[in-house]
Amino acid sequence: MAEVRERNSYGLYHLTDTIHYEYEYHHEGSRKRNKRSKDRFRDFLPATRGFMDDLTVTTSSHIQARWILSALEEVVTWARMKFKPRKSRSMILRKGQITTKFQLKIQGDEIPTIVDNPIKCLGKWFDDTLKDNASVKTVQTQVVEWLKKVDKSGLPGKFKAWIYQHGLLSRLTWLLMIYEMTATTVEAIERTINSHLRRWLGVPLSFTAIGLYSRSSQLQLPLTSTLEEYKVSKSKLVMTLRDSKDSKISKAGIQTRTGRKWSARTAVNQAESILHHKDIVGITCTGRQGLGMTHFQQWSKATPKEKSSMVQSEIRTVEEEQRRAKAVELSRQGAWMKWNLPERKITWAELWRMEPFRISFMLKSVYDTLPSPSNLHQWGLIEEPSCKLCGERGTMAHILSGCKVALTQGRYRWRHDKVLKHLAEILDIERRKKSHQKQRQSRSDSSEREIRDMQQSHNSTSSWTRAVNGT
Ligand SMILES: [Zn+2]
Repeated sequence: MAEVRERNSYGLYHLTDTIHYEYEYHHEGSRKRNKRSKDRFRDFLPATRGFMDDLTVTTSSHIQARWILSALEEVVTWARMKFKPRKSRSMILRKGQITTKFQLKIQGDEIPTIVDNPIKCLGKWFDDTLKDNASVKTVQTQVVEWLKKVDKSGLPGKFKAWIYQHGLLSRLTWLLMIYEMTATTVEAIERTINSHLRRWLGVPLSFTAIGLYSRSSQLQLPLTSTLEEYKVSKSKLVMTLRDSKDSKISKAGIQTRTGRKWSARTAVNQAESILHHKDIVGITCTGRQGLGMTHFQQWSKATPKEKSSMVQSEIRTVEEEQRRAKAVELSRQGAWMKWNLPERKITWAELWRMEPFRISFMLKSVYDTLPSPSNLHQWGLIEEPSCKLCGERGTMAHILSGCKVALTQGRYRWRHDKVLKHLAEILDIERRKKSHQKQRQSRSDSSEREIRDMQQSHNSTSSWTRAVNGT
C-alpha cells in the first residue's frame, strides 16, 4: 500500500473484500419447464454456496474507479453474487494526501473509507497513516501481555519456556514479518523475552543470552532467538518479493525496510555471494573423509525453494558466528569455548524429565555463574574468594573437581560410589537367588559381566559431567 502512495500522487486505492455469491446450477427456464427433471438434477448436484475472496482494484483516478466498479457490479450481479461493502474499504489519495471527498459505491451501498474504519487483513492492520508505527507499539505491548499471561499460568519454568518456543515465537514471527519493524525494536523485544526465559530456567539475570540461543556451544538448548527469527523471516520476504514469478510483484520495487542497523537486502546479497563462493570452492574433505562422504547442495543447481532455504540457513550461520564472537569477549561466561568436549544438544524430552534445579545447575556450571567462593567474592557477597577446605582460590573448576583436600577425603567419589554400591548389592542378591537354579560356573560369569556393563554405562554418562569439571 505504501508503494502506491509514493509512486502516483493521484493514485486511488480500493480494497474490496470477500464477495459472496450463491450459485445455482439450474436456471429459471428449466425450472418452469420440467419440475421432475429439476428434482432429479438436484439429487445429483445440490445448490452450492461459493465465495470469492480479496479483490483489489487500483486505478489512477477516481473516475476510472467508478467505471471499473460499475463494470464489476454488472458482472457480479449477473453471476448472482453479492458484495459485502461493510467488509470493504476505499482509499483515495490526492497529491499524496488521503481525501474523503469522493465516495465510491457498489451495488447501491457505499464503501467505507479507511480513514474512519481501519481494516485488518492477514493479521495486519491498515489505517489512514499508511505507516506501521502504531501497530509496532501494539505488538510491543502485546508481547509483554503474552509473557505476563504465560508467567501467571502457574506452570513449571521449563513448560513456560516451551510455550515461548512453540506458541509465542511462531505467533510473533508473523507479526515481525508483516510490519515494518527495525532490528533495534526487535532487539528490545528480545531483551524482555530473555529476562523472562532466564527466570523460567532458573539462571541469574547476568546470564548471557548466548547461553540461551547458541547452536554451537557445549550445551545447546532447544530455544530460538527472536532476533534470528526476525532476520530469517525478513530475508525470506525479500526473496519472495524479488523472485516472484508474477512480474507485477517482482518489478514493483517493494522495499523491505528493517532500519539502519541491519538490512535484509544486504544480508540476502551477502548470503548469496557466500553460497556462490562455496560453489566455486566445491566440496572440501576434512580429516580422513573419503570422496562423496558429505552431501553438497550446489547453489547454481538449486530450485528457488531450495535457494530460499539455503539463504535462510546461511543467515542463521552468520547469527551464530556473531554469537560466538561475542562469547570470545566474555572471559568468564565464554570459558566453555576452550573446552575440548563433544557438544551436547538438549531436547525438549530431556528437559521435561529434568528437575528444575538440575536444569539451572547445568546451565550455571557451563557458563560459570554458580555461587562458587570466587564468584561470590566478585559479586561482593563474601570477603574471601578462597576455598574453605584448602585455602586456594575457589573457582568453579576448583570446587567441582580440583580441590586436593576434597579429593583425598573421597568427596568427589562419594556419590558415584554410593550409587555403584547400591547397584552391586542388588546384583549380588540376584546372583545368590540364581545360584540355586543354575550351574555355578555360568552364573558367576554372567553376573560379573552385568556388573561390568553397569559400571561402563555409568562411566559413559558421567564422563561428560566430569570432563566439564576439568578432570
Ligand atoms: Zn579447595
